[in-house]
Formats: sequence, structure tokens, C-alpha cells
Amino acid sequence: MTSPDLPDYAPIPPGALGPAVNEQGYYVGRVERNLYWVTDSVYNCAFLATRDGVVLFDAPPSIGGNLQRAIDEIAAAEGVPSTVTHFVYSHHHADHNSAAFLFGGDVTRIGHEETRRLLTRDDDEARPLPDVTFADTYTLEVGGERVELAWHGPNHTPDNIYIHFPGHDTLMFIDVVNAGWVPIYNVNLSEDVIGYMGAPEIALSYPWTHLISGHLGRLATRDDVAVHQQYIADIDASSREALEAVDPVPFYTQAWPNMWAGVKGHLDAVVERAAAPVIEKYTGVLAAADIAEFTTSTTFQIMQSYRLDRGHSGPVHP
Ligand SMILES: [Zn+2]
Repeated sequence: MTSPDLPDYAPIPPGALGPAVNEQGYYVGRVERNLYWVTDSVYNCAFLATRDGVVLFDAPPSIGGNLQRAIDEIAAAEGVPSTVTHFVYSHHHADHNSAAFLFGGDVTRIGHEETRRLLTRDDDEARPLPDVTFADTYTLEVGGERVELAWHGPNHTPDNIYIHFPGHDTLMFIDVVNAGWVPIYNVNLSEDVIGYMGAPEIALSYPWTHLISGHLGRLATRDDVAVHQQYIADIDASSREALEAVDPVPFYTQAWPNMWAGVKGHLDAVVERAAAPVIEKYTGVLAAADIAEFTTSTTFQIMQSYRLDRGHSGPVHP
């Protein structure tokens, strides 16, 4: 195998990395009391180990069979059952849930009604449909524990929910904030830019100390969410400045009659101007901030949302 020729990127800020994984490739840790999180250093998910059985929240395929190993390890240590009786989908995406099929039998699957619709569409036997669905909120009570599920509108996906553990000082909310790292391409591969930008404020409106954010190898804090919010706010402000500052006329004049060539020249110039100061500011603060494509593609999405969703598409022809 030839090794890929990766550029030399900036060092990962030490705080961005989590605990080492074991020989099987996973780490399981206590969040609070009987709530645990599991990671393979890239993905993370969670489970509640109750006296009446285990409630599992997401099943990333990259953790896969290690989920039951982690559950067995904790159940043996705590003297509770190791059977998964309930499974909760955070959202429909396969990269967080296509090991869901491993937990079959008598399991009750719970998800947002939009998750059920999207999983029906996707028709993937690795992600069985939820039996129990809800539209706005759902309270799950198992083995004396309570979990509050809520949908507050589309963000990363149309179905991405907030999972609050009021007795564990914890929120689980996936694929918006990457603990200590920048979002990857296109606002972390998100579908609703306005929803994505507003979601951290909703997450912070809950009381919690620990955030299970789906990525990467550690839990997130309220400070992590604040840094993420500032990163996005900086991109937003920078995009507006660049849209004002870059004169589109020369691009279209030169490109005429190839208007799409003019669009590309103009928007590339806006994105480059908007993203450059953000990349510089966050390199060394958020891991992978110097991978320019992540910030430039996110900037492009936010800049387009500014134009398309927030009405700054240009003057109306007289
Ligand atoms: Zn996702």
C-alpha cells in the first residue's frame, strides 16, 4: 500500500484529544452515575445502565460490536442487566446508527417521526424503523431514570433531536458541535444552515455540564459550545463584510457571456476573503482549523444562506 501524501498540518491542540482506547479499539467512561459514553476516538454515543435493562443512544458502525462489549463490561461491574431494552435514534444518519440492527429481539426503538420517515425512505435494514415516534417531545422512563427527548426544528438534519438527561446533568446533541474541533465540510454536512447556526443556543438553554456531541474522542463542555458559536459568528460576520467589500462587476464583465464563470470568480473571491481571517484566528484553538477546505466550504454555505435565506441577494432592478 502506498501511503497518501498528506500535507503537514498544525499540531492538534492537546485538549482536543480524548482518552486512549483499549485493545479492542474503544473507551467507555462514566458521564454521571449510571450514564456512560463510548468512543472509538472519532464517534461517540451513550447508554444508561438501569436495573431494568440498558437504554442505548445511537449505534455508530465504527464502534459496532464494541458497543455490547462496553455494555457488558459496565453491567458486570455494576451488577445490572446487560440487555439493551430500549434504543434511541438521535437522527437517521447511517454513520451514527447503522449498527442499530445489532440490537434486536425485544428492543423498543424510539425516534422522531421525521427519523421514521427518513429511515423508511432510506430502506436500510441496518437501521430498523423506530416503533415509538414523537413530534415535539417524548419522556422516556426506564428503571427509575428519566430522559427527555425534544425536537426543536431542523438543523444538521430535519430530524436531529435534543436528548436531555435531567438526572445526569447531561445533554446529548449530535453533529453540530465537534468537541475541540472545527466542523468538517459544509457546516458539518448539515442540511439547514439557519437551523444549524441557531442550534447551539437551544442546546445551551438546557441545564447541563456534560455534552455528548457525537465527535470526536471526548465529551464537550459549555465552553466548547461557546467557542463553536464564536467560530460560526465570526464566519457570518466575515461573510457579510466580504460580500460588501468585493465588487462583483469586474468578474462578470470579464467573464461575459459566460455568467457562471463570473459567479465562480466572484464567489471564490468572497469566500477566500471571508475565510482567511477565521482560519488564522482558530488555528491552534480548534483542531483542524488549518484544513482550509473545512472553513471555506462552511463559509460558502453561510454566505449563501445570508443571500438566499436572509434576503441579501442584491438590489431589485428598477
Ligand atoms: Zn449526522
